[in-house]
Amino acid sequence: MRFDDNADLDASEIQDMRGSGGGGGIGGRVAMGGGGLGLVGLVIYFLFSQFGGVPSTGTSPAAGGIGLSDVQSGQQVDAGTLAKKCKTGADANRDHDCAIVAIVNSIQDYWTQEFSRSGQTYRKATTRFFTGGVRTGCGGATSDTGPFYCPADSYVYIDLSFFNELKTRFGAQGGLFTEAYVLAHEYGHHVQNLTGTSQRGTGTGPTSGSVRLELQADCYAGVWANHASTTPTSSGKPLVQDVTRDDISRALDTASRIGDDYIQKNLGNGHVDKSSFSHGTSAQREKWFTTGYRTGQPASCNTFSTNDLG
Ligand SMILES: [Zn+2]
Repeated sequence: MRFDDNADLDASEIQDMRGSGGGGGIGGRVAMGGGGLGLVGLVIYFLFSQFGGVPSTGTSPAAGGIGLSDVQSGQQVDAGTLAKKCKTGADANRDHDCAIVAIVNSIQDYWTQEFSRSGQTYRKATTRFFTGGVRTGCGGATSDTGPFYCPADSYVYIDLSFFNELKTRFGAQGGLFTEAYVLAHEYGHHVQNLTGTSQRGTGTGPTSGSVRLELQADCYAGVWANHASTTPTSSGKPLVQDVTRDDISRALDTASRIGDDYIQKNLGNGHVDKSSFSHGTSAQREKWFTTGYRTGQPASCNTFSTNDLG
């Protein structure tokens, strides 16, 4: 995936909280639940929003196991640096932070236009970079949670070191499009929040609402991938120049390593317990990303109405 050198970036869609205030705010990594439980947290948001409840006052500990008081209050948003260094697609082609800005811009440009085509208004969500731990509208979280979307405050949270972990612990090939898939999945959850679908994502098990919600987010990621290179920015030209076969194969490789069955078998105790499934199997995640990518139609992501989740 390459970006148009001359396209404009909008760095305001990212807030950088990695600075001295927030960075490592809880003193490094806090084990959550032990036994690699935290790893299941790729796009975990239901641990927060369903099982843990969404604290409205911001004082309750999240289900993940740390309290807000464990996270330093001095988290600051560095508003200037990204805006200064990430101005154009050329910046995204040479700088990783700026590439993430470009990906988020492209995803949200797509959904803005898609909502508008159906007479609705898409409300943009900001992605927050953090390291170590972070306070959220859904409670405190650590990097071990993996990237997630918090419906209570409508932010996507990500510690970019997760992408290294995908390679080293999950054995994924990695690459920029892996990151694009993960972000597009999280923004899929934001779309679900805007459309009111989020509440249906309850329970665990192979046909649970949680699994259906996660597979739909994977499908939405595929839908964006279909449109990425044809979605114009405000300048009229697409920011993403191309999505290659290699990009898609990296997304699918990632999907194959974050299914519940793969994680339980390879990163858990080796035993697959279907009743605890929350995201779907690797094969299902590949299937639904592919469905979205092939059709380019959000309506094809009908995971709540189908009897065939794959
Ligand atoms: Zn998810």
